Amino acid sequence: MTTHFQVLVVGGGNAGLSAAAQLLHKASSLQLGIIEPSAKHYYQPAWTLVGAGQFDIRDTEKDEQDYVPEGAEWIRDAVTAFQPEQNQVTCQSGATYTYDSLVVVPGIQLDWAKIKGFSETLGKNQVSSNYSFQTAPYTWELIRNFKGGVAVFTNPATPVKCGGAPHKIMYLACDYWRKNGVLDKTEVHYISGAGAIFAVKEFARTLEGLLKRYRIKTHFLQNVTEVDGPNHRIYFEGKDADGNVQKQSIQFDMAHITPPQSAPDFIKNSPLADPTQPLGWVEVNKFTFQHTRFSNVFACGDVSNAPTSKTGAAIRKQAPVMVDHILAQLHKTQSSARYDGYTACPIPTEYGKLMLAEFDYTNKPKMTFPFDQAVPRWTMWLLKKYMLPWLYWHRILTGKA
Ligand SMILES: Cc1cc2nc3c(=O)[nH]c(=O)nc-3n(C[C@H](O)[C@H](O)[C@H](O)COP(=O)(O)OP(=O)(O)OC[C@H]3O[C@@H](n4cnc5c(N)ncnc54)[C@H](O)[C@@H]3O)c2cc1C
Repeated sequence: MTTHFQVLVVGGGNAGLSAAAQLLHKASSLQLGIIEPSAKHYYQPAWTLVGAGQFDIRDTEKDEQDYVPEGAEWIRDAVTAFQPEQNQVTCQSGATYTYDSLVVVPGIQLDWAKIKGFSETLGKNQVSSNYSFQTAPYTWELIRNFKGGVAVFTNPATPVKCGGAPHKIMYLACDYWRKNGVLDKTEVHYISGAGAIFAVKEFARTLEGLLKRYRIKTHFLQNVTEVDGPNHRIYFEGKDADGNVQKQSIQFDMAHITPPQSAPDFIKNSPLADPTQPLGWVEVNKFTFQHTRFSNVFACGDVSNAPTSKTGAAIRKQAPVMVDHILAQLHKTQSSARYDGYTACPIPTEYGKLMLAEFDYTNKPKMTFPFDQAVPRWTMWLLKKYMLPWLYWHRILTGKA
């Protein structure tokens, strides 16, 4: 059994498989190992459409084995600790592996337990979340069977994967209820830890129009603290103008809750974590993904501290830059590749229409198409529903796009 790799990848998710495949395309003789505990791989971006009854959850899950690139060795284990001074990682099984270059891409941790009562009630009592494979279908059950009342959608104060996902599902739910004569009998609340609906003003304008159109009551800079499922009550708090904590609660008939998120604990508690950030992201150069203290360690995707919105779309631009730097280091050359913070958030605004928000580190729109992408379109809906899933399984995970 091999215990030393030229490149060792921690995490065989979106970033891990894309980067591994790209590395092997460029250097086929590379000894590359991927440590990944899960037998299944998930296409998470479709979970919003699952929650809206537009995508079959079964099509979001495939066997990891089928996507491990040829030439890579899959180690079915989970990393528990890093010893970067010895170029070594330790796994749950007790096995240790050493490397020339390390790629740290284990994604983000869903901190369900940070909201009191959430784990106990998730998937029942009219409480759902698209953030889990198990419960995304329950969101659709709730939306479909909703007969009016109070619907609550929440977004935590932490960064989350796909910043749009907590509110995308709200617009689809409202549109469904509008078409079925339920919206007039419904009060919709959006409770968010953020200070605004979206950070990029050009796209925020479109979403503010939707908030008005669907008469959504917003509660910004508010943090959900507890969900009492059996009594259908959600508790949240924020600060008033004098800095005093104000607690509130709302009785709901259905709730879609997004959990707070952070770097996985084994990253947070490791020497790789950014010591200035309590959420424990891996500390990298935001343009190259090289670790700022351990030069043969790289990280991108949801786990890195690059200050952009955490999406698969961002990884599509991050992975090639990171790969270029890893190969340059192995070959003792230089890379001039730079990442500009590009990310994309496809936001469905109603069934059949979608706004493709693309932007960079400066929060300036960075539109791919030759039309105003702040205007929701049918073509962009088709892109999200049909093209992007195909692209993911056939081109992105295989390192071709
Ligand atoms: C509801 C929802 C909607 C979304 N919508 C979009 C969208 O519209 N567009 C978009 O671009 N993105 C979207 N995303 C975000 C996108 O799915 C993530 O940004 C992307 O999957 C991150 O890739 P990653 O490789 O960093 O993490 P992941 O793909 O999550 O992979 C991490 C991998 O690391 C493994 N791992 C965990 N712990 C260990 C360990 N200890 N040792 C080894 N391996 C480990 C995991 O098993 C997993 O396979 C959405 C996500 C969700 C949940």
